[in-house]
Amino acid sequence: MNSGTELFGTMVFSDAVMKQRLPEEVYQKLKRTMRGGHKLDPQVAGVVAEAMKEWALEKGATHYTHWFQPMTGITAEKHEAFLRTGRDGRAIMEFSGKELIQGESDASSFPSGGLRATFEARGYTAWDPNSYAFIKDGVLCIPTAFCSYGGEALDKKTPPLRSMEALNRQTLRILKLFGHHDVQAAHINCGPEQEYFLIDAEILNQRRDLMYTGRTLYGARPPKGQELEDHYYGVIKPRVAAFMKELNEELWKLGVTAKTEHNEVAPAQHELAPIYNVVNIAADHNQLTMEIMKKVAQRHGMVCLLHEKPFAGVNGSGKHNNWSLSTDTGLNLLEPGDTPAENAQFLLFLCAVLQAVDDYQEMLRISVASAGNDNRLGGSEAPPAIMSVFLGEELTDVLKAIDTDAPVNPKEKTLLRVGVHTLPRFPRDTTDRNRTSPFAFTGNKFEFRSPGAPMSVSGCNIVLNTAVAESLRQYAQRLEKADNFEGELHQLIRDVIRAHKRIIFNGNGYGSEWVAEAERRGLSCLATTADCIPRYVTPENVRLFENHGVFSEAEMRARCAIMAENYCKVLHIEAVTMLEMADRDILPAVSGFCGKLRDRTQRQGTRYEANTLEALEDLLDEAYDARCALEKALEQVNGGVDEKAAFKYRDFVLPAMRWLRAAADAMEAKMPSADWPFPTYGDMMFSVK
Ligand code: ADP
Ligand code: MG
Repeated sequence: MNSGTELFGTMVFSDAVMKQRLPEEVYQKLKRTMRGGHKLDPQVAGVVAEAMKEWALEKGATHYTHWFQPMTGITAEKHEAFLRTGRDGRAIMEFSGKELIQGESDASSFPSGGLRATFEARGYTAWDPNSYAFIKDGVLCIPTAFCSYGGEALDKKTPPLRSMEALNRQTLRILKLFGHHDVQAAHINCGPEQEYFLIDAEILNQRRDLMYTGRTLYGARPPKGQELEDHYYGVIKPRVAAFMKELNEELWKLGVTAKTEHNEVAPAQHELAPIYNVVNIAADHNQLTMEIMKKVAQRHGMVCLLHEKPFAGVNGSGKHNNWSLSTDTGLNLLEPGDTPAENAQFLLFLCAVLQAVDDYQEMLRISVASAGNDNRLGGSEAPPAIMSVFLGEELTDVLKAIDTDAPVNPKEKTLLRVGVHTLPRFPRDTTDRNRTSPFAFTGNKFEFRSPGAPMSVSGCNIVLNTAVAESLRQYAQRLEKADNFEGELHQLIRDVIRAHKRIIFNGNGYGSEWVAEAERRGLSCLATTADCIPRYVTPENVRLFENHGVFSEAEMRARCAIMAENYCKVLHIEAVTMLEMADRDILPAVSGFCGKLRDRTQRQGTRYEANTLEALEDLLDEAYDARCALEKALEQVNGGVDEKAAFKYRDFVLPAMRWLRAAADAMEAKMPSADWPFPTYGDMMFSVK
């Protein structure tokens, strides 16, 4: 058996491999490009390409691809063989620098949200030298950005890089003020915890809702769900353990630092967490993780469900985005320190995050909006659609003391002066964490819990990075001008706390009292994706992203259009699937059983037959009315995929879907197992032994 250390990174054209295989001069030039964002010199690219090809051929690769992340949210690849025929007709293996740096893609079917007219349908892909190439399934994958000929980002890779640059720029400004002249670069880190379900493939094949939509659209609750909490951190079943072992090995080969694995709360639910990495690499690795989870599950006769809410009544799956800011000198800027100066700096960065979440609550909320995640957010199991920050009692008390000029320690009667006093010690608490908060401070990082399991982490990190960059930009403006740095710093921190303390909430985020309280505080609540769409391209949001060079207004409009389109299309597929299942399976099955019951009651039936028949006939009428209402609702939308259509889906289609499901689930509960056309919730959730 191979150990993790032997396998780790064997399929990655990593720094070590480059160092070993490239001439020193070329290696140094490439490193300079990676560090400084200089353009890669074509001659260097040629040498790198040759070395990459040789390495890939040795590893058994036959093809290469520019691996990119279009706005569909999944990854795309178009394989090209290295093979070429020489003049004498013999086969040669070739891969040039040009092919490495840039590829053209006739990608007219990828969503562009109107950024690309069809006559210029081609986009081009450009190697991101900050992400290492790797081999997957015999194909050399070159991580690339995907742009239009006008230079607009058509992908989920370019904007995070731009947002990292923006945050890097402002962080360095602030760090200079604190005297950190040795820091050359800020690192923005992300550790995404990935939740997923595993169910038996045989069972999935009998459920068209799971097959087409990734979630169950029908299904009566089983007698046992997650109430005993006997699955959480429970013993991992042998079949799942075998899956996890192979998954880890596959990921390690690709340099993905899969580290933690355990059972989650719901039956059949699990989690994988990697060791954190810089955001763009973490995003690439998370995309790979999701893809490989699906592949490996298949090899084990299972299906990996990444939907936000595959099953009603038990927890859905999220992707907790652990986020922190550090420096190339190894300083974690969100870690409280030991000296007054370190603490002042910590408080300032903490304030920057508080202000960012408060000022751009809507944008953060929008970054995790989708038809799937609407089923999860606010469902008493996942953070609500209202953004707030959990800081814990101790830290909140410190901020309160600064806000009110109150003595930190009543006995001492000294006021807390930022930059002069050390902070009172607050335990770096990692045990008593508030799981109901969407955005929690967890000792030396923030954990954003709202993203849905299938989402790319790019979306929320773009917003987070840019919004924090904006807070820091404002602080730098003010502090750079100050004559008395310490005094100004204290005032600034106090001003930020006063202006943004409404975003701090340490209580129960699931309670209905919080919704009322949040409204009193003037916090925004965008309950569904339909509500998010009109709030996407507001003047404040455009100003934020344009000022920091992250998105142009056109790019934002495109992304908003894709979000609306996606919401409408997903709900359309769900509605049509429900109709098909109702018409072809559920209604005929119930009607057939009612026929049998009617026969029996005509010839001396028992109370069971008579009562069941009566109940089922009522429900059958109800279900039929609901399916007709759903069909009507779909006619009203009439194939629309824009903002207006989104509201129609929210107001007409979704209620009809809920009505139809309620009637069908009630019928399921009364039907004999043998006559019900699909596997039940119990069959699915307890399918993997
Ligand atoms: P829990 O479920 O208890 O929150 P996990 O171990 O499942 O913890 O996941 C924590 C995640 O946070 C891991 O991916 C870890 O690498 C990441 N993480 C830890 N420290 C940092 C940090 N400073 N910045 C970003 N991510 C971090
Ligand atoms: Mg975890």
